[in-house]
Amino acid sequence: MESLRDKYEVVIGLEVHAQLKTKSKIFAPDGTEFGKDPNSQTSPITLGMPGVLPVLNKEVVNMGILTGLALNCEIPERCKFDRKQYFYPDLPKGYQISQYDEPICLNGHIDIKGKRIGITRAHLEEDAGKLVHAGSSGGIAGSNYSLVDLNRAGTPLLEIVSEPDMRSSDEARMYMEELRNIVRYIGVCDGNLEEGSMRCDANISIMPKGSKVFGTRAEIKNVNSFSALQRAIEFEIDRQIEIVEEGGEVVQETRLWDDNSRETKSMRGKEDAHDYRYFPEPDLMPLQISREWVQEIKDKMPELPEAKRQRYMSLGLSEYDAFVIVEQMGLALFFDEVLKLGATPKIAVNFIMGEIAAYLKEDHIEITDTKLTPENLAELIALIEKNTISNNIGKQIIIDMMKTGEKASKIVESRGLSQISDEGAIKEICQKVVDLNPDQVEKYRAGKVQLLGFFVGQVMKETKGRANPKAVNDLMKEILG
Ligand code: ADP
Ligand code: MG
Repeated sequence: MESLRDKYEVVIGLEVHAQLKTKSKIFAPDGTEFGKDPNSQTSPITLGMPGVLPVLNKEVVNMGILTGLALNCEIPERCKFDRKQYFYPDLPKGYQISQYDEPICLNGHIDIKGKRIGITRAHLEEDAGKLVHAGSSGGIAGSNYSLVDLNRAGTPLLEIVSEPDMRSSDEARMYMEELRNIVRYIGVCDGNLEEGSMRCDANISIMPKGSKVFGTRAEIKNVNSFSALQRAIEFEIDRQIEIVEEGGEVVQETRLWDDNSRETKSMRGKEDAHDYRYFPEPDLMPLQISREWVQEIKDKMPELPEAKRQRYMSLGLSEYDAFVIVEQMGLALFFDEVLKLGATPKIAVNFIMGEIAAYLKEDHIEITDTKLTPENLAELIALIEKNTISNNIGKQIIIDMMKTGEKASKIVESRGLSQISDEGAIKEICQKVVDLNPDQVEKYRAGKVQLLGFFVGQVMKETKGRANPKAVNDLMKEILG
């Protein structure tokens, strides 16, 4: 397959649904919380009862505008809602309220590592309910029927449609990750792919290298993680190449990714817009979005992930560290708090990406689940900078600080961990170590200078890591001559 791949260029466009984090639904007052009892978060509007009218939730529009601005989109002065008709048991009204030809956001882009990916549009719509299929894990054991849960029906979604600008599964993944970063940092979506609060349909086609004419695309649904997205795209590229190489034609269709068998399977022929018989939603007025409204939201825009990375790099973090910390929003926000308290960035990031991240990962928790406060980490860093304790001691006590919420200065005092910087005291211990190891001293003096590390190590062991390492190094060299 490798050599065949070189003959083709891959074209990918993503349609991403982001579930907007509002308290109530887009056109109804029911709650939107995940995991409630089936059908407990419904109302006559959500159930599509005759005679009821949708009422637009203003917060949904605010979030739509905020996201559009974060994605460098234009926000037209006017947008409207349309009915998209299709029949499915999880869609009680028989139509979905969406936006067709006048969406809330147009013509944006995201830059991923220097490459610009266009965003065609983003539109608001309501989610459908959920079918719990016969025999599925969420269903009733042994049942031979499916159940419908309408809690999710009417949850606000923003569908973000990219241009077909991506050329590899890596680019698609990076785009998706950055999109997730953005919606999380601006607080409109929690970006959880596994729980389905962010969902992605990948459109994939291939064409001979150098061609300007795109091939026929297949749309892949049901990718629930970043790695699944990459696997699905890779599988689909190979499947399409095989078809074309055998003289066949790729058909336009919707395919379903199965992450267990690691293949895509045909689900249905692709519908065209006319299949949905779109028409303007008669129960909702077109929306006028004043420039003042847009400006008001613009003024509240939080720092975006790319700006954050650039700022971290200007503070001396490597590009790699900047990327890794921004991917973990809880840690980045914590880091920002610690910086505000005047902590040295490089020491702070070493603790956060080192001991702290490792501890959180092991226990599958967030930093906010621990008792560590930004103030306490900043104090610990100040102790290191003042040479009151060594970096090593800092690493030893940070876990306790997370568990107990205790201040570093208190732990240092109660356990007698402060650093020994007094030359006389260190010299004494160095001399003791030298006296105890005559053989090593002889070897050192005969030219095996690498043994310095051994001597320094012994002093650190003797002082339980409390001796100032630089002083130990200098004094040891002096004694050994
Ligand atoms: P729909 O899937 O609802 O018909 P569109 O026609 O707007 O919507 O296209 C959906 C997505 O497919 C967009 O993200 C677009 O970039 C992508 N796309 C369009 N043509 C191709 C193609 N030939 N190959 C890959 N992706 C494509
Ligand atoms: Mg589509």
